[in-house]
Amino acid sequence: MNIVTKIKDAQEQVLQWKKQGLSVGFVPTMGALHLGHASLITKSKQTCDKTVVSIFVNPAQFAPNEDFEQYPRDLDKDCDMAQDYGADLVFAPSVTEMYGAEGSIDNNNFTFVIPPYFYVDKLCAKSRPAHFDGVCTVVLKLFNIIQCDFAFFGQKDAQQLIIIKKMVQDLNIHVKIITCDIVRSHEGLALSSRNRYLNDEQKKDALCLSKMLFRVKKLFDAGIKEVGPLFDSAIELLSKNVELEYLEFIDMGTFQNTERVENATLVAIAGKIGTIRLIDNMILGD
Ligand code: AMP
Repeated sequence: MNIVTKIKDAQEQVLQWKKQGLSVGFVPTMGALHLGHASLITKSKQTCDKTVVSIFVNPAQFAPNEDFEQYPRDLDKDCDMAQDYGADLVFAPSVTEMYGAEGSIDNNNFTFVIPPYFYVDKLCAKSRPAHFDGVCTVVLKLFNIIQCDFAFFGQKDAQQLIIIKKMVQDLNIHVKIITCDIVRSHEGLALSSRNRYLNDEQKKDALCLSKMLFRVKKLFDAGIKEVGPLFDSAIELLSKNVELEYLEFIDMGTFQNTERVENATLVAIAGKIGTIRLIDNMILGD
């Protein structure tokens, strides 16, 4: 496995593969890799001839009060894991390499891709208003650098996935987006790079997020379709140590909040345990 930090080195390697007629899969990450990321690498390996993993903590998607500085970073360990799962190339650029400068990246000094308002008036965007501008911008930059055929994203970040699919469609980007299932701990906690900051007690508290989703699913499967009772029943499981940010029911067809589960519906939850913000989701119906 090759590890590069320069854009031109990554481009050259991918170009070489393309010339040989090989298909390229791409797994963008912020590092601190875990089995959720590994599942994306595995899926790429199954789908494509070559797999590129990027490791880049993107300052443009963090607000000044968020955890950009504290975000876990361990490049050596990440490279070992990427190699173990069969990645062919790790692209780990610096902030300067990606944005030309250190420090704050915003639309005063940089071109941004802004997703439609309709997609960012709900869920995570309510508390992180410019987050998806930063995500779309870095993902488009990475797609332009890594001229991949397929890119693999986790359902764990459901709103991100929907917004990226919309960007790819709207901007005619020649990349096929592949959705990968959420990987959970055996107790049900959705794996996340931020989980490593939870102590044992907090991990137990964090479990209430997935338990709430699983209770909603159980009640829905038993025939309850009104969001009111589904919501109320889920809330009973909320730990007193978890500050709920949202529990929303979004119709996947219209991407609007719904009062009744008629079509495929995204049930998404976010909560804070101390300073650690966690998200999870589940889809009801089809
Ligand atoms: P991140 O490093 O958190 O930006 O995540 C990189 C990619 O891994 C994104 O597409 C995430 O949705 C995906 N991912 C993160 N956690 C999980 C998980 N538990 N299961 C599946 N995919 C995940």
